[in-house]
Amino acid sequence: MRRVVTFHYTLRDPAGRVLDTSAGGEPIIYLEGGGQIIDGLDTRLRAAAAGAKLRVQVPAAEAYGAHDAAQVQKVKRTALPVGGELRVGEQFQAGEDRFAPVVKVVAIDGDDVTLDANHPLAGKDLTFEVELVAVRAATAEELKHGHPHGSDGAGHCH
Ligand code: ZN
Repeated sequence: MRRVVTFHYTLRDPAGRVLDTSAGGEPIIYLEGGGQIIDGLDTRLRAAAAGAKLRVQVPAAEAYGAHDAAQVQKVKRTALPVGGELRVGEQFQAGEDRFAPVVKVVAIDGDDVTLDANHPLAGKDLTFEVELVAVRAATAEELKHGHPHGSDGAGHCH
């Protein structure tokens, strides 16, 4: 049986810094195996019941993958689609297309700018503190669509 799971989480890096949290906001809802959350977390929550609070460690390889050096490239400042002053740490979309990757400026040397197109969490082992708010069986329609339809399964997504 595939389940629809609603949960709150706090995500920390190996140093314990909070990277992201749903606390104070809406919980996350997903269909098991539906790809709404990273596989490494999905598979580790399969045995957990509603109300469970657990700490889940997901190695980088099962989260956002290893940091790929080939995704770090040096380009000319004039070739970039952004005006104004660039700063190290700044992020922007590397093209007009809304699906263009988000890149991060990691170094600036005169007219040479080094960009990193890796996911910001690539290469990081992640720790999730998770609280399962609700768990139920997925409906036939949800299984067909591959995603959840709200907390009670009656929501409309289209
Ligand atoms: Zn749907």
